[in-house]
Formats: sequence, C-alpha cells, structure tokens
Amino acid sequence: MSLIRRIDLRGADPASVDYRASVPRAEFDVEAATHVVRPIIEAVRARGLDAVRELTLEHDGVDVPDPRVPAAALADALAALDPAVRAGLEESIRRLRATSEADVEADSVVEVAPGAVITHKSVPVDRAGLYVPGGLAPLVSTLVMNVVPAQVAGVRSLCVAAPPTRETGLPDATILAGCALLGIDEVYAVGGAQAIAMLAHGAGPCRRVDLVTGPGNLYVIAAKRLLRGVVGIDSEAGPSEIAVLADDSAEAAFVAADLLTECEHGGTSASLLVTDSVGLADEVEAELDKQVAVTRHSERVAAALGGVQSAIVLVDDLDQGLEVVNAYASEHTEIHTRDARAVAARVRNAGAVFIGPWSPVALGDYCAGSNHVLPTAGCACHSSGLGVHSFMRRVHHVEYTREALAEVAHHVVTLAEAEDLPGHGAGVSSRFVDSSER
Ligand code: NAD
Repeated sequence: MSLIRRIDLRGADPASVDYRASVPRAEFDVEAATHVVRPIIEAVRARGLDAVRELTLEHDGVDVPDPRVPAAALADALAALDPAVRAGLEESIRRLRATSEADVEADSVVEVAPGAVITHKSVPVDRAGLYVPGGLAPLVSTLVMNVVPAQVAGVRSLCVAAPPTRETGLPDATILAGCALLGIDEVYAVGGAQAIAMLAHGAGPCRRVDLVTGPGNLYVIAAKRLLRGVVGIDSEAGPSEIAVLADDSAEAAFVAADLLTECEHGGTSASLLVTDSVGLADEVEAELDKQVAVTRHSERVAAALGGVQSAIVLVDDLDQGLEVVNAYASEHTEIHTRDARAVAARVRNAGAVFIGPWSPVALGDYCAGSNHVLPTAGCACHSSGLGVHSFMRRVHHVEYTREALAEVAHHVVTLAEAEDLPGHGAGVSSRFVDSSER
C-alpha cells in the first residue's frame, strides 16, 4: 500500500477545474479552535498572571509561578550550548542578518509641487512579542527567524515567549541559549494561546506589546486571529507545507527527502509533488518507502504523507503544473525541472521558492539567509513571510509652505464641499483670511 495518494489532473479542463479545491488541505479548523481560545484570552485579560499560571498547568502540565526566565538561566544555557550548535546558529544569524539589512526600506521624499514635500518614513514598532513554538520540536531556528529581522528593523523592546518543558519549567535549553546569543534578555516560559494573550494584553512582568509575530499550532493561530486589532499580527504561519514541481529530469531521492522534511513537523503538515512524469512519481514513491522506514520520526511523517493533504499530483505538462502550484499557494515551493530558474519566475504564489536540486527546503529552514516563518494554508497568495517589513510601519510626513498650501487650497475647499464637509474646507481657507475677519 502506497504511503501517499495520487490525484490525477491530466486532461482536466482549465476553464472549469478549481485547482485549489482539487488539492485539499488538512482539517485545521481555526474557527472551531476559537471556541477553546476565546475563554483563554478572556481569562488572561481579566486575571493576568494567575490565569497564565493555571492555563500553563492545564495545557503544558507544569506549574510555573513566575514565567519570566531568570537572566542566570539564559547565561547558563549559553555556556552549556554545544559548540557545533552555536556555530550553526551563528552562521544562520549572519546570513539572515545580511539579507535583512538589504531589506530595510529607505525613506522616500517627493516634492509634489514647489514647497509641498511628502516624506514616506519607515518606522519600527516600539515593542514586539516573538512567539517560538516548543510543542513537538524546540524550534530555536524559529527564534533566529523572528529576532534577527526585528533587531535589524530597530525595534527597541523585544520579548520572547516559548512553552515551558515539563522537566525544568523553562523553555528548551537551546532556545534559552539562542536568546542569550542574540542578546534577548526578556523571555517568558509561556506557550500556546495564553502566551499570545499575555503578549497582547500584558500580564504581570510582561508589558503589552504592539506586535506579535511567529508561527504556531492551531491554538496559537486562533489566538492571533482573535487578537488581531488589539495588537498587530504577522501572517498566519501554521502547519508546514511544501509543493515540489518536478519533471523527469528531477532526482527522485532528493524530491522524496524534501517531501519528508516538512512532514517531520507533524501529522497536519502537507507535502505535494506536482509532476508531468509518471516515471518520476513511481520513483519518488519507492524512495519515500525507503526513506520513511528509517527516519527517526517515521510515525508522524507517515501520518502527514498519508493524510488527505499530501499527494502526488499528475499533470499534463509544466504549464498545468504551474497553474496547480499557483492555485495552491504553498508555504514552500521547490522547482526541480530543466531550466528551473525560468520556471521559478512563473511562480506567483508561494511563501518562498527554492530553485534547483541544490536549494532544498531544509536549507531555508536553517541557514539559507531567507526567513522560514512563512504564510501557510493558501495565505501566500496575499501575505509575505516574516521580514524587516513585518516590524515596520510606513508613515507619511507632510510639510507644505504657505505658498504651496495657497496654491492647492481651492481644490481642498471644492472637494470638501462635494462631500458636504465644509468644516474641512474651512480648515484650509480660514488660514488665508485676515485674522481680524475670522
Ligand atoms: P506550539 O508552541 O505552537 O504549541 C504548543 C502549545 O499549545 C502548548 O504550550 C500548549 O499551551 C498549547 N496547547 C496544546 N494543546 C492544547 C489544547 N488542547 N488546548 C489549548 N492549548 C493547547 O508548538 P507545536 O504544537 O509544536 O506547533 C508548532 C507549529 O508551528 C507546527 O504546526 C509547525 O509546523 C508550525 N511551524 C510553522 C512555521 C511556518 O513558518 N509556517 C515555522 C515553524 C513551525
């Protein structure tokens, strides 16, 4: 029995087929989860730290009287960090910092008429709360992906929240070491929806933040959706996804390895192979059998590959394959075709695109220099991954001289009259009336 199902879209009529519906996603009912999460948010808003403590005991199975991680625990974790892991983190930070610095948007200054100057400024948020998942895997890489762009953006105050482990009541030691390495000293041992609520409303030692970023499970995403508006929220980054677009030139072992990679995150992760080659599909299936049998987390990988959300999708040709990939709007899209760069240029909807056999998704998860916090569930058709821009706002500065205002005044008055808002017109015209006549 095959580990992964097939969806055959060959011969589908492009005029009538709905490619997005043809390739379903896993059951991930954020609306249903809001029923669980709403009372959590309300409890934290109303009772602060007491509620956070009770909810942590309930959902993480550990009593944490004070969630603020002591400075000594951060320093000790860094001192005990495996030097090879530290070297890997430092390289990951270095590469992401380089791309983040290149992403800082310069202010624009435009003189729209003589003496009428508009400056569009990039301004970082004052304070951001960064969520680092810690349920199934302690994602220290996600810590890096959150912190580096926030620091490059110039956010003055940063704090991190990550679930406590049962053993220590603190987040995973590698996450703590990563915080120390990155110079983050405000860290909370709180996970799930209660962490997002604590960041948004403030609780105990944690002052409310202006923006919450970071990926998470169903409860984290539901909390972010409910709290959008109370705080700023980055895009919804949920269960990981990969779509591989491949032709018969692809290396089946590489493709199978990358399909497996994303499924390691858990049973709701999705892996798609979209190909016009039945021969490649057969080879990848055989490779998956081999690779899944020996991988450490074979159970959860098999669950994700066997879920309704994972499939080998057969298409007539790469043109149809691109339509499927663009409709699906995957978090990660890999291109394993001849002339991969030209094919990649035609991918419009994806969180990130990985081009050719030597740019695997796992590289992007750790050390490529790109960010791995990316929109899932089709949100890549309207949202971007995390980056410096996530932590910035664009603010117009408007500066006119008397002459410049006088020149445009009649237009303002006319438009204000057209909207039946004469007071707006007066806001301009009154400036040009002699003060004795006002
Ligand atoms: P998590 O930290 O998001 O969630 C763990 C928390 O969930 C716990 O602290 C607990 O408080 C809460 N929780 C668990 N069961 C609950 C329940 N029944 N009711 C209320 N709260 C409950 O860690 P995770 O579960 O491992 O999920 C991380 C997710 O993030 C994965 O799906 C992974 O694929 C995803 N991820 C996405 C990206 C991206 O960029 N899209 C990047 C990294 C990770």
